[in-house]
Amino acid sequence: MWGCEHWYLFDCSLTAKRRLCCGCSDTREKAAAYVKYVDGQGDVLAATQWEYYCPGCQKAGSEMAGRKDRGLRYLSWLRRKKDVATTTTTTMTTDEVS
Ligand SMILES: [Zn+2]
Ligand SMILES: [Zn+2]
Repeated sequence: MWGCEHWYLFDCSLTAKRRLCCGCSDTREKAAAYVKYVDGQGDVLAATQWEYYCPGCQKAGSEMAGRKDRGLRYLSWLRRKKDVATTTTTTMTTDEVS
């Protein structure tokens, strides 16, 4: 086993770290907000954790943020979506045989 499920589910574009998504390869301490440099204000606690992630992980991050189930339903929805995409071709060939 390598990598994490999110890498596949979020269509993560990070390839440098053995198929680990941006979130799982993020070694920073978990926090509600992250320091970010804002012009005129300097460093402020305003960045979200996924702010510098790839587009796929950023989208997943904002989708899952603030959810009571911590994004579990979003994850299973993605899983189902991917399953549908991979099983469609199998179903089609079965139909052809019958
Ligand atoms: Zn990513
Ligand atoms: Zn991950």
